[in-house]
Amino acid sequence: MLKKIHFVQHHFLKIPQRSAIIIFFLILMVFWGCHKPDRQLFRSWMDDSKKIKVLSTIKQIGDLVADIGGERIDSLVLIRGALDPHYYELVKGDGEKLEHADLIFYNGLGLEHGASLFSWLHLNNKATALGDRILQQFPERILFKAEIVDPHIWMDVSIWAVAGDLIFQQLIAIDPDGASYYRSRALLLRERMERTHREILEMVHQIPEARRYFVTSHDAFQYFTRSYLAEKDEINWTQRFAAPEGLAPDGQLSPVDIQRIINYLKWHNISTLFAESNVNLDSLNKIADAGRDLGLCVQICEEKLFADAIDGDLHYLDMMLHNAKVISNHMSNP
Ligand SMILES: [Zn+2]
Repeated sequence: MLKKIHFVQHHFLKIPQRSAIIIFFLILMVFWGCHKPDRQLFRSWMDDSKKIKVLSTIKQIGDLVADIGGERIDSLVLIRGALDPHYYELVKGDGEKLEHADLIFYNGLGLEHGASLFSWLHLNNKATALGDRILQQFPERILFKAEIVDPHIWMDVSIWAVAGDLIFQQLIAIDPDGASYYRSRALLLRERMERTHREILEMVHQIPEARRYFVTSHDAFQYFTRSYLAEKDEINWTQRFAAPEGLAPDGQLSPVDIQRIINYLKWHNISTLFAESNVNLDSLNKIADAGRDLGLCVQICEEKLFADAIDGDLHYLDMMLHNAKVISNHMSNP
């Protein structure tokens, strides 16, 4: 009898334990499944494949590197998914990646300013700051805000095409045997970039000129605005774009900031705020709430824009087309 009670009790306790173990392993499998591609990518990149190992800080660079380098290189992106490149600090394993790379490309212009990453990049002669090089070559194309350089240069495809040329030059310098291979791929990429630039321009210019004013989470869309939203040679193009958070999203929003955006919404008759995929919605929610309290019709667009981060496997150029489509759809039909 005692044995029976013990048996029943044993199972009574054991069923939830078993369930807990099963649930634990299911979670582990899901977690492992989600991270498997990243880990595999990292392992194969660390393998001695005899290919040139190229590390890029952001996907906007990594996509160009992979397009030009093709089968002759192994390309890896350091700051993946929704992580913020402005504040990214080195984590376990990053040191190995940086050491293992034959070439490193980063944006520069103050984008990667997390202290550990910044000091590593600046002390390493394998690393090329694409934005800093573009600033040297084409200073007139680089934008500033309150005397601080705006690092979001990839938001204008015609400027980012220069980054493609710089990547090509670095690849042929380290691998001269692959020069013709890289050249043909770089030319194909340049053609695709020129085509995408024109497509975005045409798409955005279907929006009536008077409606081409917009608000996003942080100051990442200045280059996009100047190149695509503004009229040709427009002097006051900066007035077409406003954001509550500065060049690096910081979530700090004062009543003055909120009022500034509210005034902007009223002045330009804007009813849609555009959220960015990796920036907290708090700032836009505060503005939308404050606007509604004042009787304005304000909503946050459900389709998010990509600026500092690109979700999933979306190619940089498809990300730019996505942004243009979302902006164009919502501004044409507010
Ligand atoms: Zn940014």
